[in-house]
Amino acid sequence: MNTSVLTNDEHYRLLVENITDYAIITLDTEGNITSWNVGAQSLLQYTPEETLGLHSSIFFTENDIAQGAYEKEMSNAKTLGRGEDERWHVRKDGTTFWGSGILFPIRDGNLLIGFAKIFRDRTERMAHEKRKDDFVGIAGHELRTPLSIIKMGIELLIMKTDKPDPAIAHELRSMDEHVDRLAHIITDLLDLSNISAGKLTLNKKRLNLTELMTTEMLPHYQTLFKNHTIFFDSPNNVEVQADKDHLIQVLYNLLSNAVKYSPHADSVEVVVVDSEKFITVTVKDFGVGIPKEERERIFQRFYRVNNKHQNVSGMGVGLYISQEIIKAHGGTMGVLDSNGPGTSMYFTLPAT
Ligand code: ADP
Repeated sequence: MNTSVLTNDEHYRLLVENITDYAIITLDTEGNITSWNVGAQSLLQYTPEETLGLHSSIFFTENDIAQGAYEKEMSNAKTLGRGEDERWHVRKDGTTFWGSGILFPIRDGNLLIGFAKIFRDRTERMAHEKRKDDFVGIAGHELRTPLSIIKMGIELLIMKTDKPDPAIAHELRSMDEHVDRLAHIITDLLDLSNISAGKLTLNKKRLNLTELMTTEMLPHYQTLFKNHTIFFDSPNNVEVQADKDHLIQVLYNLLSNAVKYSPHADSVEVVVVDSEKFITVTVKDFGVGIPKEERERIFQRFYRVNNKHQNVSGMGVGLYISQEIIKAHGGTMGVLDSNGPGTSMYFTLPAT
């Protein structure tokens, strides 16, 4: 074929049609398939002739359709300019593969005339990710048992040592606090693995949040975060329906961040507000703050802001886990816009 006589449009059509690793599909405004390349045929097994006029929801699993994934992808493409596509796809013979790609709108000026969808098979990568997540879960479990034995040993020594040497008493308390920090890190690892496997289970009970915070959580955190005074403000007897251990973990993550990222400040504030529909808990610090453009991304797994507090250690998972826990309770988590230095991180829980 003499390529020099091909028009730009023909070049483009041949390019798309011949890409084999990526499925490239176009849809009309209703989601019906209008074109289908070789990559789409090899991934989904339909020939272009078989698909013309079929609706693009045929590659969604029944479960995803029932959960509104199709509508969500379409509406994200229309309103945000791109709909992320990371889920199981169904082939013609009913088998599935893990596909990843994007759906974006095609416009003529302001007029929506259809959609283009590009994706590829990421089943292998997904299996690799799963092995990593499983490893994190197993490592977490393996670490938990020896740690609780060490914790019990330290507590026994603290209780049973009559008139200990002040230096030894100090060391024992310090070891006890470090064991507590380690326990929180291990809980994060276990939660991370459970969230990835879709197995985050909540044991929700009615809790008196104010009492829990004043008698248990905050005194405990105050011993861990000695360089900052934790100020607390709340109406009396605010009640929530929540999983106590997970709530403790969320508050630990927010407070440890507040302290970590405000090394030159000496206080943090925890404020509870009880409105009719929601209980809002805000943790405010007076530290380095979070740039506006980073405020969505910090909730992604392993994301850390790359700036001057880079030397602060961390795994980049605390906020991701905390947000997932709060979402599982029917609440939301985010960063408040505030004037002045520092960060105000909040989460809400539905009122009981
Ligand atoms: P990390 O272990 O890195 O602290 P997180 O998931 O808890 O992980 O937080 C993600 C990132 O968000 C942090 O690396 C940090 O850049 C930013 N961040 C979180 N909380 C604060 C805060 N209170 N002040 C400033 N930056 C924060």
